[in-house]
Amino acid sequence: MTTPNETARGEAEHFDVLIVGAGISGVAGAYYLRGQCPDTSFVILEAEDSFGGTWWTHRSPGIRSDSDLHTFGYGFKPWVGPPIATAEEILSYMGEVIEENDLAQYIRYRHRIATAAWSHADGLWRIEATRGETGESVVFTCNFLWMCQGYYRHNEGYTPDRPGMADYQGTIAHPENWPADLDYAGKNVVVIGSGATAATVVPAMAETAAHVTMLQRSPTFFRCGRNAIEIAETLRELQVDEAWVHEITRRKIMHDQATFTDQCFADPEEVKHQLLAQVRDLLGPDYDIDTHFTPYYLPWRQRIAFVPDGDLFKGIAAGKASVVTDHIERFTERGIRLQSGAELEADIVVTATGFNMNVMGDIAFTIDGKPLDFHDTVTYRGMMFTGVPNLAWVFGYFRASWTLRSELIAAFVCRLLNHMKATGATSVEPALRDEDKDMALFDWMEEDSFNPNYLKRALSILPRRGDKREWQHTQDYWREKDEFPAIDLEDEVFHYRRPARTDVAAE
Ligand SMILES: Cc1cc2nc3c(=O)[nH]c(=O)nc-3n(C[C@H](O)[C@H](O)[C@H](O)COP(=O)(O)OP(=O)(O)OC[C@H]3O[C@@H](n4cnc5c(N)ncnc54)[C@H](O)[C@@H]3O)c2cc1C
Repeated sequence: MTTPNETARGEAEHFDVLIVGAGISGVAGAYYLRGQCPDTSFVILEAEDSFGGTWWTHRSPGIRSDSDLHTFGYGFKPWVGPPIATAEEILSYMGEVIEENDLAQYIRYRHRIATAAWSHADGLWRIEATRGETGESVVFTCNFLWMCQGYYRHNEGYTPDRPGMADYQGTIAHPENWPADLDYAGKNVVVIGSGATAATVVPAMAETAAHVTMLQRSPTFFRCGRNAIEIAETLRELQVDEAWVHEITRRKIMHDQATFTDQCFADPEEVKHQLLAQVRDLLGPDYDIDTHFTPYYLPWRQRIAFVPDGDLFKGIAAGKASVVTDHIERFTERGIRLQSGAELEADIVVTATGFNMNVMGDIAFTIDGKPLDFHDTVTYRGMMFTGVPNLAWVFGYFRASWTLRSELIAAFVCRLLNHMKATGATSVEPALRDEDKDMALFDWMEEDSFNPNYLKRALSILPRRGDKREWQHTQDYWREKDEFPAIDLEDEVFHYRRPARTDVAAE
């Protein structure tokens, strides 16, 4: 049976490249394709009603970036506002990028991709998507699949099942499914969690709620500072052009981040001391920092949320918010009973307990009819996978802005596509070299390096990594920014199919 966009002869709509997702990475992909591969046809399929990804689906109060927008924004489009931005500001910036570069014509909204099937015989991906309005199935084919679908399941946050939840008479809200009409003015709120999301929800709700309690099992590191960047302010005072302000500020931020990251690994105790001193300054000497703000892990092994102008801590110091560090025993009719025996009464419980990580947007992949389990593959630099032809995945940085990697990968993919075209290759897939064959294989991320719970929960479904840099997502922007543009596309890692000449590994 043909689907609505197939021809009578059963031919699906075809594009050279199909991008999955219109978040910050998918839009970067479209921008680079237009500029660097002008003859390449492409489409973006997006499940939601609009662009923005994370910044479109997250609607909880106070939602904002914790990265600065000079580096979370694109290198090619100056960011002119304060560095930490709200979701609305990020969406408006992305809207300008789409408009200025005429990218809207490439995006098809309300298209959720369900399956992706590669056929060696056809040298194509066959993509089946469901259309939101009608629920009908539509089919596309493409030569190259560019996965920009992020790393977690949108609209389905992670809420651990707790005893007694069904008995609770108040409202439970997850930041990924925020009820648009939730009125919290004058209410008692408990926010479960203490990550970046909790750090934004707590001060925002505390403005009008009767009281907000942040309930955490264990503490998190935070950095505090002004929502401003001194060098950008100075350059603007000197009336320097915004494009220059953006570039210079980006370089300064990246330089400072590199220094901070090095320091976290070289002298973690000193960094810990400095981070806790910031909190002590805001909460005063009598506050129990040891219990509530001293994590068990070392700095940067989990994301460190930036708290602009210390708003979370100011709310606590003013008595509008408080922190409880304890374990949940069960929900009750009126709130939450803790293992210590205390009970927190709440009209509203916000479960800022993280998200469910997924791999490749929950799309069922097959290769020549066989189901593909990405855990059976080894990653090439965290963006391609052994045995998987014509596919690149954008998985950004945790210790630097995600977008820096979206752009590095975008430039690489365009270079690869142009190289394939120039050399008559119809497909490419990375494969272990002879010298890599006995390489030890590990889970996606080294636990000593980065270990949040959502990642630990997903290791069994993520691709594996080897013990050499080429076979890892190194999380190291400062080296990758030089390594990626220098990748030799005829390295024996890349196996090309060049029909006119027979299969060749390298020429
Ligand atoms: C609350 C929150 C705050 C964050 N703050 C920061 C920050 O400050 N700095 C930072 O660097 N990172 C941050 N991150 C990480 C963040 O997700 C990334 O930075 C970035 O926004 C990801 O962009 P993306 O385009 O790669 O993916 P996403 O933003 O996840 O967008 C992916 C898009 O793909 C679509 N999609 C997924 N599956 C399918 C499918 N099967 N079919 C069709 N479409 C599909 C989705 O609908 C979505 O629109 C944050 C994450 C969260 C959850």
